[in-house]
Amino acid sequence: NVSVVLFTSDLRLHDHPPLRAALDGARQVVPLFVRDRAVDGAGFAAPNRLAFLADCLRDLDAGLRERGGRLVLRSGDVVDQVCKVAAEADADEVHLAAGVSAYAHRREQRLRSALEADGRRLHVHETVITAVAPGAVTPSSSDHFAVFTPYFRHWEREHLRDALGAPRGVRVPESVGSERLPTRTELSGLSQGLAAGGEEEGRKRLMAWLRGGITAYEDRHDDLAGDATSHLSPHLHFGTLSPVELVHRARRTGGPGAEAFVRQLAWRDFHYQVLAARPDAATADYRGRGDRWRSEAAAREEVEAWRTGRTGYPVIDAAMRQLRHEGWMHNRGRLLTASFLTKTLYVDWRVGARHFLELLVDGDVANNQLNWQWMAGTGTDTRPNRVLNPVTQAKRYDPDGAYVRRWVPELEGLRGAAVHEPWKLKGLDRAAYDYPDPIVELADGLARFRHARGRD
Ligand code: FAD
Repeated sequence: NVSVVLFTSDLRLHDHPPLRAALDGARQVVPLFVRDRAVDGAGFAAPNRLAFLADCLRDLDAGLRERGGRLVLRSGDVVDQVCKVAAEADADEVHLAAGVSAYAHRREQRLRSALEADGRRLHVHETVITAVAPGAVTPSSSDHFAVFTPYFRHWEREHLRDALGAPRGVRVPESVGSERLPTRTELSGLSQGLAAGGEEEGRKRLMAWLRGGITAYEDRHDDLAGDATSHLSPHLHFGTLSPVELVHRARRTGGPGAEAFVRQLAWRDFHYQVLAARPDAATADYRGRGDRWRSEAAAREEVEAWRTGRTGYPVIDAAMRQLRHEGWMHNRGRLLTASFLTKTLYVDWRVGARHFLELLVDGDVANNQLNWQWMAGTGTDTRPNRVLNPVTQAKRYDPDGAYVRRWVPELEGLRGAAVHEPWKLKGLDRAAYDYPDPIVELADGLARFRHARGRD
């Protein structure tokens, strides 16, 4: 007998329960990935993520070939393609891991009825996208946690299944053909410093992280110039690494760094459980505050300056340029640039979230939109009116100014923390730097925000 395994956001061989179950129950298996027209068409197909995906698919194929198999790629409507491949392979069942989005649930329902109509079974396994599935822990009075700390207390106590190893051998029926796998070189508009994708690359990074950086994570995660976070987010997004395995391995490592790291993994699950319960939060305020945000059209020049890293606030500009150059931004940078757009410029958080999703290699709806909402004060932050001051924050998290000098070469000549306030230079000194004046006074931005939120 033959089984099809549909890969989605879980592009790996390690810790893949649907693949394991299929291999246990069948002689032959078809590992299938479908370039889903509906997902591509919905605007999620940013070049940086497509490039990373191309790496992931090639690497998955290579890993399967080492084990005697190969990856089958198809494109089109996901349900049609799965049914077609199942028929070509004469498979009696299809395995996949449960998704966590409303779209994924619809996909499962459609798949189930289409397969059953053909006399085949669909096995939907527990989700592998999060460590703790959305809805697995809930408060007594609601279907999801709206505040992180109590969520985390429950999350920590959840029993996690053991992580599985990679399979030894995979046999794929010869009758099933594949489309040619994409390569990143076919894509244009990529960030120059984009990280490489694929499970092998992800595991290398993970092992290096466990041997090194994780120990100092608690102390150094906010150090902008030190860049001392794991950079595992794109691997978690594409599922080249398993969150369950990460939690187990970090816990085994132990110590305050590992604990702080596990807590961040719980933030990721937290946002997934919010979005699963409130899918509308991808576009609508989770908690309306009566904001009458400035639209992109109303703030066109300021938004453009923000996007291109020309706001005149060096730390904001450095972070926005890092985003464009790497398709990734340090978390402290994400917080500062989101606070600046929403609270200092009072521009709609959706404008910023859209720009991030166009570039972020780890961009996902749950974590991007809900972090934006958190910072805009429309989400789950219990202090919705907090405003991050880009100058004091820059002095704290980039005390020597090295992060700014790395990304804003116009200011290279300014030593130490002076780089954070170029407007303090006088006359000719100031004119020597081809760098804009601040597009807004922080005090004016703050006054507008406080007025808008009725707090002045
Ligand atoms: P580490 O610090 O090493 O953390 C380990 C892992 O924990 C990360 O890989 C990530 O999966 C998770 N994590 C860490 N912080 C958060 C957080 N605040 N929320 C959720 N998960 C977290 N993360 C995304 O994965 N995708 C996004 O689209 C995204 N958009 C964001 C937008 C804004 C405005 C903000 C403020 C944050 C956003 N984040 C997003 C969260 C966070 O910035 C990134 O996960 C992190 O910077 C990735 O780098 P890292 O892997 O080195 O993180």
